[in-house]
Amino acid sequence: MEKLRYFDTHSHYNDRRFDGQREELLDRLFAEDVTCIVGAATTTADAREHIALAERYPNYYAAVGIHPGNIAEQMEKSDLSETIETLRRMLEHPKVVAIGEIGLDYYWEDNPPREVQKEWLHAQLVLAEETGYPVVIHDRDAHGDVFDALTAHPKVRGVLHSCSCSPEMVSQLVKRGWYVSFSGVITYKNAARAPEAVKIVPSDRILIETDCPYLSPVPMRGKTNHSGNLCYTAAKAAELRGEDLEAFVRQTHANACKLFGIEDDYDRHL
Ligand SMILES: [Zn+2]
Repeated sequence: MEKLRYFDTHSHYNDRRFDGQREELLDRLFAEDVTCIVGAATTTADAREHIALAERYPNYYAAVGIHPGNIAEQMEKSDLSETIETLRRMLEHPKVVAIGEIGLDYYWEDNPPREVQKEWLHAQLVLAEETGYPVVIHDRDAHGDVFDALTAHPKVRGVLHSCSCSPEMVSQLVKRGWYVSFSGVITYKNAARAPEAVKIVPSDRILIETDCPYLSPVPMRGKTNHSGNLCYTAAKAAELRGEDLEAFVRQTHANACKLFGIEDDYDRHL
């Protein structure tokens, strides 16, 4: 069998942990392991780094947005309305395919107050409404409020990244046209709800991702993650769903292309 290639729908290759090996690693991944990679930004400075990578690699794409945990850092450079205008300009770049990662994160105590996080999420969802771009949603311990925010913007579509929400929330959002992406977390013994959610997402709405350098799947847990480890996450997801691995991988590639508006041509990458 041909070696499978994977679409990594969520990564952070601008992370300092890749310094000194970034180009060598991405050259190898694009030659051997991946079809496409989407880099997810956390600030506008971060977004510029992803856009630079997208300009260097034909199959690297960027999502631009402000992560809830990075709002304070972003505010040192520009306020909310200035930031939205910067993001709007970035969306004109041909390799920028989504607004993200945006959302709510109630896990870390030193994150901004919930009201501030909600204000930034709302403004970025309005930008998505106005521009028609899909969004990449980060939701950590904030499922109810994320669900309410998405419900308040019914025209916005996108992906729940590294999904950890309940099967009920997943099925509600899937009904409204949302995609759901799973990371290495589904391979963890203590993963509470993600493996259950993997089983219920329809074939045409499921995606896979690394969220690298974070969330290395078993058996690479504890090491710096990269897209070459998507084989473990894909194998686990296909097993949980009772699907053929190659068919699953081709389907997730097609789904990602549809969501991000990229031409779907899996065999071109082989
Ligand atoms: Zn991420």
